[in-house]
Amino acid sequence: MEKNYSTMEIGTLKGDLADKGRIMVGQELGLTGSEISFNYAPAGTFAPFVHSHKLNEEVYIILSGKGMFMVDGEEFLIQEGNVIRVAPESERAIKAEDNMAYICIQAQGGSLTQATMDDAEITESKASWMKDQ
Ligand code: ZN
Repeated sequence: MEKNYSTMEIGTLKGDLADKGRIMVGQELGLTGSEISFNYAPAGTFAPFVHSHKLNEEVYIILSGKGMFMVDGEEFLIQEGNVIRVAPESERAIKAEDNMAYICIQAQGGSLTQATMDDAEITESKASWMKDQ
């Protein structure tokens, strides 16, 4: 029987991810509603282009370091802990000032019709750590 979940290993942020620069997880995990990339940009580096998307909004989650972000000509500082959502049609660019690790999640703009507790259904099953409760 095919499993209803998938896992993968991306390694450490400052080791494996820093070596590869970018790890896309959508294909390996079989994601059906989003694409997620883990990124590591060395200090002073940036993608040499501005881009927008046809359908997908993006959420950038800065895990470590700091840098600059540009959306539609507005530039601002970004750092560990910042979360930035960018509309599909907006033009964006990112630059690392320090070594910077971040996650980028792409999902089709306007596709989410419910979330979290509106979508969750509590079931009767118990995990092994719940058996005494
Ligand atoms: Zn993008």
